[in-house]
Amino acid sequence: MIRSWSPVVARERVAEETFWLEFDAPEIAEQAAPGQFVMVGFGASSWGTPFLPRPNSVAAAPDGRVGLLIRVYGAGSRRISELALGERVLLLGPLGTRFELGDARNVLCIAGGVGLAPFLLLPRWLDRQGREANLRLLYGERVGAVVFNPEKIQEIAGIEADIWTEDGSRGSRGTVLDGTGLDGADLVLSCGPTAMLKAVRSLARTAGVPCQLAVEEHMACGMGTCIGCAIPTIDPETGEDVYSLVCTEGPVFAAERLRW
Ligand SMILES: Cc1cc2nc3c(=O)[nH]c(=O)nc-3n(C[C@H](O)[C@H](O)[C@H](O)COP(=O)(O)OP(=O)(O)OC[C@H]3O[C@@H](n4cnc5c(N)ncnc54)[C@H](O)[C@@H]3O)c2cc1C
Repeated sequence: MIRSWSPVVARERVAEETFWLEFDAPEIAEQAAPGQFVMVGFGASSWGTPFLPRPNSVAAAPDGRVGLLIRVYGAGSRRISELALGERVLLLGPLGTRFELGDARNVLCIAGGVGLAPFLLLPRWLDRQGREANLRLLYGERVGAVVFNPEKIQEIAGIEADIWTEDGSRGSRGTVLDGTGLDGADLVLSCGPTAMLKAVRSLARTAGVPCQLAVEEHMACGMGTCIGCAIPTIDPETGEDVYSLVCTEGPVFAAERLRW
């Protein structure tokens, strides 16, 4: 785990309340894998918002940079989205578990909202590992105004996204699950709102396809100390009900481990 005061080297508004930021953080960029995240903080000595760091998925790692896709929800994400070029933040990472592809050949990636972030990293990361897999990316948003530009997705990830919006103003009309044909997929990976993850899990379970889900939970430390991000899970060995920490045992979990 690396702790680095890292300057913003690129910042772009990419959709309504949605920003793309890159930080100069070579050691984190070199180690980060899809599904892992960084805590973005401002240091305890700075008076102001946010006091606690905020978790964000590593969405790209080109040329020693860490790319983040930030959507504004509250004060913390707003502060991050408003960072100026050259301004430094305290990055801690890479943290958490990653998607495990094993020997899967046909991988269906289902992203909701900024749950897109880990799938922006995945294709180039696989290339770097010398690993081949056919990736299909479904990306859903509620409305077209917040859709991350498809050309930018292509530029960052080298992959085309099949876009779905509920208002039908970009891509196909419907939820991302309306585009989900599991035929041929031997692994399903998903990241996004909990309701979507639950639906993905039941689709994959019905089809008998292994599924991994990246879960979001509020957290204060990102490394297992504060125990703020405990969620109910099932122990894979004993089958007992237990709690797991999203920061260290997740954020990526095998779907069957989640006790929803
Ligand atoms: C492992 C992990 C990876 C993440 N990756 C990303 C990422 O790549 N990009 C990104 O933009 N966010 C990501 N998040 C979510 C991000 O950490 C939160 O959006 C952020 O902590 C919000 O902080 P805030 O101070 O802006 O909002 P808060 O003041 O903490 O919350 C403001 C309001 O927004 C709600 N809210 C907060 N987060 C969310 C959310 N994610 N969805 C819906 N409502 C929310 C809160 O319940 C509250 O009502 C990730 C979270 C985790 C745990």
